[in-house]
Amino acid sequence: RAKELGKSRFKVFNQKMHDQALMLMALETDLRRAVDLNEFEVVYQPIICLETREVCGFEALVRWRHPKHGMISPDQFIPLAEDTGLIYAIDSLVLRNACLQITEWQNRFGTMLSGPLTLNINVSGKHFGQSMLPGQVKRALEDSSMAPEHLNLEITESALMDNPSIAEDILKQLKNLGIHVCIDDFGTGYSSLSYLQRFPIDVVKVDRSFISDVEDNLDSQAIVRTVFSLGESLGLKIVAEGVETPKQLIFLESEGCRYVQGFLFYKPLSVEEATSLLVKASM
Ligand code: C2E
Ligand code: MG
Ligand code: MG
Ligand code: MG
Repeated sequence: RAKELGKSRFKVFNQKMHDQALMLMALETDLRRAVDLNEFEVVYQPIICLETREVCGFEALVRWRHPKHGMISPDQFIPLAEDTGLIYAIDSLVLRNACLQITEWQNRFGTMLSGPLTLNINVSGKHFGQSMLPGQVKRALEDSSMAPEHLNLEITESALMDNPSIAEDILKQLKNLGIHVCIDDFGTGYSSLSYLQRFPIDVVKVDRSFISDVEDNLDSQAIVRTVFSLGESLGLKIVAEGVETPKQLIFLESEGCRYVQGFLFYKPLSVEEATSLLVKASM
């Protein structure tokens, strides 16, 4: 009996794997077409400067408008894009579009805001390890005439640490362009902090998981506190991401936090929504 049960389980498992494989193949075909036809959209989540309570920049976040399945979030297709190498095209599309968009906003609203708008772009770890990245960034900056110092490239800790010597070389080229580099999801990927010293990092984003329970988890409080004091002593700009409640904000402010991003302020906005936000901010 047990043997039979084992057999049928094995069968079910196989069927499931087969279905998944078919689904993945279909999705891969769709994703290739999406790149060719540019079915991607960029949404923009404001980053808030707490001193002025004003929007000081945006993080560009990609969405896939699938003709049949509707809006698909990046968590659902970035892994496949990485496996198939389509990520290079997707990231560079987002980079180009967002640089053009931020320049348009800067030209229209810049003089009425209290500072220049910054743009944060996510780059996949796989893409980061490729020698083509600095050239793509250079071209996007030139084509949009965006000031390099207002561009932050967000990468994860593992993008740096999976191959530190390649990362070092690419970071050097990126920094020579004049852009800034930001560690995304800080605290989730790597256990040593020494890389913050080794690499020319400008910005650190404290991962949402630490912010989400900072109200009542003493460990998260201690971690967040440590990151802020580390930031101060290493001269890093710290952004708290995923701020959802007033209590979280109060804690963060009491610890000297200056930049936040999260649903408490804004969700990722369409170009139209972000434009009307800037219209209001500049009145
Ligand atoms: P991320 O870079 O850490 O971006 C933050 C994610 O958290 C976004 O999800 C954002 O919508 C969400 N978020 C922001 N504030 C809050 C909040 O207060 N509460 C909660 N629960 N969530 C919040 P999204 O847009 O689904 O993106 C997920 C991830 O996909 C991103 O995480 C990033 O790693 C990746 N991604 C997005 N766009 C791109 C892209 O153009 N290229 C690459 N390579 N990756 C991207
Ligand atoms: Mg990010
Ligand atoms: Mg993040
Ligand atoms: Mg992430």
